[in-house]
Amino acid sequence: MSKVRVYQLAKELGMSSKELINKLAELDITVTNHMSALEEETADILKELYEVKREDTNEKTENKKKTNKKGSKNKKTKEASKIEEKEHDQEAIMIPETIVVQEFANKIGKSVSEIITKLIGLGVFASANQNIDYDVAASIALDFGMAVQKEEEKEEDEFGIEEIPDRPEDLKERPPVITVMGHVDHGKTSLLDAIRNTNVTSREAGGITQHIGASEVEVNGKRIVFLDTPGHEAFTSMRARGASITDIAILVVAADDGVMPQTKEAISHAKAAGVPIIVALNKIDRPNANPDRVKQELSENGVLIEEWGGDTICVPVSALKGEGIDNLLEMILLVAEMQELKANPNKLASGTVIEAKLDKSRGPVATILVQNGTLKVGDSIVAGAVYGRIRAMVNDKGNNIKKAGPATAVEILGLSDVPEAGDRFNAVKEDKLARQIVEKRRAKIREESLNATAKVSLEDLFKHI
Ligand code: GDP
Ligand code: MG
Repeated sequence: MSKVRVYQLAKELGMSSKELINKLAELDITVTNHMSALEEETADILKELYEVKREDTNEKTENKKKTNKKGSKNKKTKEASKIEEKEHDQEAIMIPETIVVQEFANKIGKSVSEIITKLIGLGVFASANQNIDYDVAASIALDFGMAVQKEEEKEEDEFGIEEIPDRPEDLKERPPVITVMGHVDHGKTSLLDAIRNTNVTSREAGGITQHIGASEVEVNGKRIVFLDTPGHEAFTSMRARGASITDIAILVVAADDGVMPQTKEAISHAKAAGVPIIVALNKIDRPNANPDRVKQELSENGVLIEEWGGDTICVPVSALKGEGIDNLLEMILLVAEMQELKANPNKLASGTVIEAKLDKSRGPVATILVQNGTLKVGDSIVAGAVYGRIRAMVNDKGNNIKKAGPATAVEILGLSDVPEAGDRFNAVKEDKLARQIVEKRRAKIREESLNATAKVSLEDLFKHI
C-alpha cells in the first residue's frame, strides 16, 4: 500500500500541514510533522471527511453522495460531526489552584447563590468570600457545561524574578532560532556566509559590518535567526545551564566525507535536546561527492531522511557556490511553521547570553538572544551574576536599535561586568531590584565556592590520615 505525506494531503485538502496535523490529532492519529507518511487508506478517509464537511452546507450534494457511497456513510458523518463539535468548543475558563467563591462566580458568570447551592450539592460548605479548591471549582464549571483549564501558578525564582506564564492570547508568532552543527571543515562557516550573502541586496553588498555572534535573514517576508556560535558549544555550555535556545539544528555533512565523529556528536546533542534536524548535504560540487553513501551513513546513525522513509529533510547544497541555499532556507521555514513558535512581545524581556567579552573601549559587551518579551534601551537587566542598564543595542547589521522583540539577537552595552555565555537574562522593573538580585546571586556563588573548598580540604585531610 502506498503512502501519502502529510504536506501532500494537506495541499490536496486546501489546508496547511499544521491544520491537517491538528485535525489528525482530533481523530487520535498522531504524526510527528509535515513529512510523516500516512497510509493511503487514512488519506482517503480524510478526503471523504472533508468533502463531506464542505458539502454539509449543500443538502442536495450530500444526499447524492450518500447514495453513491453507502459503506462509509456512518463513519464519515460521525467523524465529521465530532470535528464540528471540537471546532465549536468554547474557550476554556482559567481557574487557579484556589479561588474565592465570589470571584469564581464572577468568572463563570453565575450568581454566588447558584455556586453555593452547587457547593452544598458537593458537600462543600463555603461562603462568598471563602476559598475553594480547583477540583471543586472545576467540577461546578463542568456542571454548568463550561470548559475549564488549570491556571499555572506564578513561578518566582529564588532571587525574586517573577516568571509569569503567558496567556495564550498574548502569544504571537516568532521567528525560528537556528544553530549550525557538523564536523570540522564540513562547511559550517561557509554555509553561514552563503546564507548571509543570499540576503544581501546588491545595494548592501559588502555592507556586513558587524559581527555580533548571530545573524538574521529574511525569506519570503519571514525572519530566520542564525547563531554563529558553533552548535556544539551552544548545546553543551548552554544546555548545562538548562537553557534551550535553538529551535532547529542544521547538520552540515560534507558529501565527500560523510558522517564523522563530530557529526555523530551533533546528532546526539540535537536528539537529546529534542531539536529537529535538517541535513545540509554540503560540497555537492566536489567531483568525489557521494550523497548516497552519506544518506546511508546517516540512517545508520539514527537520522532517517525522507527518501529513506524517515522524517528528516535533507537538502543538497554547495556553500562554496551558493547552490541550494534558497531551498535550505525554505525548508527551515517549513519545519519552523510546524513548531508553531510563539512568544509574548508585550512584557519585560528574558533570554540567554550568547557570548560576552570585555571591550577595551566599550566595557563589558554581550550578545544576547531575546527569547520572550521586548528589550528596550534604558531597561534594567540581570544577566547571571551581572546587572546593568541597557545603554545601547546593536543588531547584526551593525545598526543601533531602540528595542528588540522575541527571537532577536543584539549586542548590548551597559553591563556592570562580563556575564557568561549561557547565562539567563531578565529585564526587571528597576535598577535597585537588579542590584539586589545580583547581590543575592553573588552571595550564593560565594557560599557555594566556600562549601566546595571546605569539602575539598576535609577530603584532603582524610587523605593524609
Ligand atoms: P567548518 O570548519 O565546518 O566551519 O568549515 P569551513 O566553512 O571552514 O569550510 C572548510 C573548507 O571547506 C574550506 O576550505 C571551504 O572553502 C571548503 N568548503 C566549504 N563548503 C564547500 C562547498 O560547498 N564546496 C567545496 N568545494 N568546498 C567547500
Ligand atoms: Mg568554522
